[in-house]
Amino acid sequence: LVSRKMKPEDTVIDIKGEKFGDGNTHHIFGPCSVESYDQVAEVAKAVKQNGNKFLRGGAFKPRTSPYDFQGLGLEGLQILKKVADEYDLAVVSEIVNPADVEKALDYIDVIQIGARNMQNFELLKAAGEVDKPVLLKRGMSATISEFINAAEYIISRGNGNIILCERGIRTYEKATRNTLDISAVPILKQETHLPVMVDVTHSTGRRDLLLPAAKAALAIGADGVMAEVHPDPAVALSDAAQQMDIPTFHSFVDELETFSNRK
Ligand code: PEP
Ligand code: MN
Repeated sequence: LVSRKMKPEDTVIDIKGEKFGDGNTHHIFGPCSVESYDQVAEVAKAVKQNGNKFLRGGAFKPRTSPYDFQGLGLEGLQILKKVADEYDLAVVSEIVNPADVEKALDYIDVIQIGARNMQNFELLKAAGEVDKPVLLKRGMSATISEFINAAEYIISRGNGNIILCERGIRTYEKATRNTLDISAVPILKQETHLPVMVDVTHSTGRRDLLLPAAKAALAIGADGVMAEVHPDPAVALSDAAQQMDIPTFHSFVDELETFSNRK
């Protein structure tokens, strides 16, 4: 059902009036983890200031180590909702437990399914059964075909509002955290009718590569990029090495806009 052969025209997803997949770019910015009201509000203010609409933030964090910060859970979703209402932004947040999908509906505008859960079939089914857009990230060891099949799980349960997100895959290369598979973007655009975006933060894992990777994503046809922003990255409870501070974020958005207009 996600195949272009089944539906030649692009899927356009209306999220709080923003039409994802309409040919314009829509970006998602925000902290890796929700840490406090003030932290999220400071980032939301910057997102609003530079003309963006989507605020991300992890409340349920899938961490490699059980001893790392696991997220604020439901309290994190409540903070996101409060801030998003104040700044009129749409919220994107990861859900990891199928049982939390229903609970999350009141708080978020887009359900994120993370790389580690791309083949959590019960979670995919649960997300397929609700009326809420889903941002599905590519598993770090998933082929494009497996990625498309994961989206198929969601759409086959009735929910066709899916945004695909390339976030880098595991290779032998150690210079970046993952290897951004940039050619996945046009392949996914050709093979499916879904919007496709690129997460430049988790793919590169390097602050100095965020802007060039974002430019590459837009040049190759992505519908938008995701990147992490924190008021003080050095003290962030997760992903301290690659989040942008607010001044860097503003110049990132400026330069990306200039780049898009030049295209
Ligand atoms: C995230 O976006 O917060 C995240 C954990 O990313 P990924 O699932 O791609 O690792
Ligand atoms: Mn992160």
